[in-house]
Amino acid sequence: METDYLKGKKILIVEDDASSRLYLNKILEKTGAVLLNACNGGEAVDMAAADRSIDIILMDIQLPVIDGYEAARRIREILRDVVIIAQTAYSLSGDREKIMAAGFDEYIVKPIFPKQLIEKLVSVHGKKSV
Ligand SMILES: [Mg+2]
Repeated sequence: METDYLKGKKILIVEDDASSRLYLNKILEKTGAVLLNACNGGEAVDMAAADRSIDIILMDIQLPVIDGYEAARRIREILRDVVIIAQTAYSLSGDREKIMAAGFDEYIVKPIFPKQLIEKLVSVHGKKSV
């Protein structure tokens, strides 16, 4: 099953809004993934640099200290192969190129729904691991 796919995988959730962070943790806890949390872009970069076994980073775009674009760029320099997925409040028709240029693999538009989130993490990580 798709939820088994994420079991034991290390996922870094980067989100400055506490209730959104809690929501994402609740969704992803059910998959058996190992969850790490960062509250801003600077913290995300530091955590990625300190732990190279992270499999997936779920990154908000609007973040304090360093925004999601810049954090993704810096993390991509450190971890070439990690899956980085942007989460954004916007409908991103115009920003897709900007997101991909920053080094993200994919993006998901808020509001985020549990099934959609898990399916996206599985499909993006699955494709990249082939
Ligand atoms: Mg935010």
